[in-house]
Amino acid sequence: MTLHFGSLYWPSTRPDSPAYSPLLEPVRCDALVVGGGMTGIACGYTLARSGIDTVLIEQSSICSGSTSANTGILQYSNDIMLSDLADQIGEYDAAEFYRACKSAVEQLVQVAAGLPRDVDVKRRNSFYYASNDRDLIALEKEFEMLSRHGFGVEWWDAERIGSAFPFRKSGAIVTHGDAELNPYRFVSTLAESAVQAGLRVYEKTKFLSVDGRKGSFVVRTNSAEIHAEHVVYAVGYTPEAAGGSWIRAKLNRSYAMVTKPLDSIEDWPQRFMLWETARPYLYLRTTADNRIVIGGLDESFRQPVLSESEVEHRSLRLLSELKLLFPNMRVEKEYEWCGTFGESADNLPWIGEDPSRPGQYYALGYGGNGTIYSAIAARLIRDDIMGIKHPISSIVAPDRKTKVPSA
Ligand SMILES: Cc1cc2nc3c(=O)[nH]c(=O)nc-3n(C[C@H](O)[C@H](O)[C@H](O)COP(=O)(O)OP(=O)(O)OC[C@H]3O[C@@H](n4cnc5c(N)ncnc54)[C@H](O)[C@@H]3O)c2cc1C
Repeated sequence: MTLHFGSLYWPSTRPDSPAYSPLLEPVRCDALVVGGGMTGIACGYTLARSGIDTVLIEQSSICSGSTSANTGILQYSNDIMLSDLADQIGEYDAAEFYRACKSAVEQLVQVAAGLPRDVDVKRRNSFYYASNDRDLIALEKEFEMLSRHGFGVEWWDAERIGSAFPFRKSGAIVTHGDAELNPYRFVSTLAESAVQAGLRVYEKTKFLSVDGRKGSFVVRTNSAEIHAEHVVYAVGYTPEAAGGSWIRAKLNRSYAMVTKPLDSIEDWPQRFMLWETARPYLYLRTTADNRIVIGGLDESFRQPVLSESEVEHRSLRLLSELKLLFPNMRVEKEYEWCGTFGESADNLPWIGEDPSRPGQYYALGYGGNGTIYSAIAARLIRDDIMGIKHPISSIVAPDRKTKVPSA
């Protein structure tokens, strides 16, 4: 299934990424991870480093899925505001979930900074602005709730925004402790470190079916069988590959565009990662080599557009949005793509053991904070296998009761 179309930026930054051979003979392991994207590699890395004998299979090659289409923003604030999540699942659980996202950013930054190769990880603050005056009240409520739960946010009013940026907005929340990275370099390098920690990786190896029970699964692939005690599905935006009956994904498509490098980036205080209250939202970041990445324009179709002119049409719209915000910037587009993007009705990921299929785990981090969810999935599933209860396991459990307040 095609997950993205167009010219991707990140793979061009690491042309020497290693290849892994396919599975040629039967193997045994404690845990089998299916999928070699951000989530599968994070799970493989965490499990292997915890002493769990782990095999990872990928039907194509590492990072070939939506991980390459990712724009590399690591943000603890979610597509669903803390205040809306509190209405949905209660304030205590909502704050617990946000805290788990914030500590996942910390873990990702620490891991990324400790890798043997530079993956362009940088601490950044995020700038979440009101798209229009109507959204200001909700944004002020969000600021109050984030502050009350100790998230250390700042409020910028219209005057301060106007004096720092070339655009005018009526208010914004600045969140601290977020980060950006190069997702392709990060995941391909993390895979190498995971292999050093004992992970066995097989590319061109497709999961077909599973029989047996927890402790003694027999997995059929397009080549040899795998005997595993646990199976983790990190199959990204192809939820049907995970089987089971709990996942009710909304699959859309989204667009991203990357400019040519600029001599310098002016008018952009702190190189904030910018995003807004409108849904779907626009988001922007800068890169280590002075490019600008802008994404958004989500559409309700699962399949990415498969025509260069259609992708170009959307990236010209993204370019004009960029010029509206930064009219003095002389920007030219260089890369542009469309990618499948998954969400859930309650804006939470599906992570944890399938209650109808013990020993089989979902690691499906649907939503704008997919990378954060990948890191949470890796820890939560590792803890579950080791018999430890993770603090947010009931919030993201596949069989949670989905509570979506009426509009
Ligand atoms: C345009 C765009 C921008 C985004 N920007 C951000 C961002 O800034 N920050 C953020 O946090 N998230 C972002 N995301 C979301 C992020 O890309 C995803 O959360 C992340 O890539 C998911 O990683 P994954 O490993 O779950 O999925 P994938 O990278 O798709 O990996 C899943 C893998 O499973 C393999 N697979 C599937 N079925 C099988 C099978 N039967 N056997 C073997 N292998 C199989 C696939 O081949 C694939 O390689 C963005 C997404 C898009 C589309």
